[in-house]
This record gives sequence, structure tokens and C-alpha cells, in this order.
Amino acid sequence: MSGKAKTDSSEALKQLTYLAAALKAPRITEAAARLADHARDGGWTHEEYLAAVLEREVSARHASGAQLRIRAAGFAARKSLEEFDWDAQPGVRQQIAALASGGFLTEARNVVLLGPPGTGKTHLATGLGIAAANHGHRVLFATATDWVTRLTDAHRAGRLPNELARLRRYGLIIVDEVGYLPFEQDAANLFFQLVSSRYEHASLILTSNLPFSGWGGVFGDQAVAAAMIDRVVHHADVLTLKGASYRLRNRGLDTLPSIRTQDPAD
Ligand code: ADP
Ligand code: MG
Repeated sequence: MSGKAKTDSSEALKQLTYLAAALKAPRITEAAARLADHARDGGWTHEEYLAAVLEREVSARHASGAQLRIRAAGFAARKSLEEFDWDAQPGVRQQIAALASGGFLTEARNVVLLGPPGTGKTHLATGLGIAAANHGHRVLFATATDWVTRLTDAHRAGRLPNELARLRRYGLIIVDEVGYLPFEQDAANLFFQLVSSRYEHASLILTSNLPFSGWGGVFGDQAVAAAMIDRVVHHADVLTLKGASYRLRNRGLDTLPSIRTQDPAD
């Protein structure tokens, strides 16, 4: 580069720094400087160079937006679908892959993950939540018990309708461990309102150790449970995980007497 061209480009970069700050797009400064030589060497057009610079800013914004949404979601542990060992649950691999593309969220469909403890329900619900956040959706994760506490607080404060409206702005709400503790009747009714308010508006992922036939006992009332299950599964993928707890794998725990007695084949 000639001395004059160098002076011109450093003047231009100074101006870019100022302009990028004014746009609140500080990465443009760095990308513009870094890509300028590439562009000159590679014979890029002006349009190609501008697109490459803006692309860096946009993808960085999306990534940091996704990180913010993941942090705000309140996951119990950050478990991604990439960390999931599909050999343990081969039956759901394709369905989960399809769900991970996020189409169910734009259609306000639900996902229900059923299966015994330790089979990966919370892991998969979290992984789908992270995928949703990466697709630009706002996500909230909590256990069924925590949701009931939040709704009860809102109800007591006379702002349940506001709270339900606020929650509808989240594309995905995850309710982990339905059935882990039975609900009082008031709690069951509040939970029913959460399900109703999202019906055909926004998605839910529910996880449970119990089959649907056991939900009547959780909600204290077969009619409430049936009405709720009806709304949840009307537009839903129901995935059933199988097998032994992943937590107990390769720990030699299958020789524990308490576990062995459960297996009449032993
Ligand atoms: P559940 O919610 O069904 O009781 P979790 O999702 O909490 O089970 O899984 C229990 C533990 O085992 C977690 O640490 C989870 O990450 C891990 N886990 C379960 N299944 C798998 C799997 N197939 N691949 C990798 N980790 C798994
Ligand atoms: Mg769990």
C-alpha cells in the first residue's frame, strides 16, 4: 500500500470507529479493520466487503442474544442436545432432532417427555430449551412446584391475569417434574390456567415420571387432569423414554440388593 493510501485508510478507520460507536455496533470497527486487507488481497467488491463486515456484527449480536436468553431461562443445569448420548435412547433421536429445529415453537405445539427417573427427560427438555433460545425464542424453565408457587404468589397479589399475559410473551415454558409432588386443588387450578392460557398461543414442554393415567392423582381430580391433558396433547409430540437410569450406569449399582429385588429375572 502507498503511504497516501495508508493515511487515507487509517483516517477512514478512525471515522468507522466513531460511526460504529454511534450505531452501538462496536464490532464493526474491529471487523472493518481486520477484513480490509483480506478484501484487498482477495479482490472483493465493495458490496462483498460491506456484507462481510455487517455479517460479523449480526452474528455476534445473535450469539450474545442467545446467551442472554439462555441465562435468563433459569435452567437447573446447562445440558445441551450435543452432550446427549443417543445410544441410551435411540428411539427418540429423530423426533428430538426435528424438534430442535424449532418448528414446534412457531406452531405453538407442545412436547411431553415421559419416562422413569434418570432417563434424560430434564436433559432433553433443557437441550430443546437451549435450541429454542438459539433460534431467538424467550424461554423459562422451572419445576412444576416452582411454577405453582409463582402462580400462587401472582394470584394472591391479584395479578394472575397479568402474569399469564406476561408469560405468553415467552415462546417456550418448560415445566419439569410434573407429578413429583401432588398439587393441592387450588394449585391444580392455577396450573390448569397456565396450560389454558398458552393453548394454541405458545409452547410448553412438560416432563413427568408418571404416565398420563397417573396425572389424575397429581391434580387431585380426574376431571381437571383430563381437561388439562386434553389441551396439552391436542397439538403435541409425546416422547416416552425407556430403560434404566443413566445416573446409575456403569457404577456397579445394578448389583445393589434394593435394585436387584426389583428384577424378578435375577
Ligand atoms: P430425568 O429428568 O429423566 O430424571 P435427567 O435428565 O436429569 O433425568 O438425567 C440424569 C442425569 O443423567 C443428568 O446428569 C443427565 O445429563 C444425564 N443423562 C441422562 N441421560 C443421558 C444421556 N442419554 N446422555 C448423556 N447424559 C444423560
Ligand atoms: Mg428430571
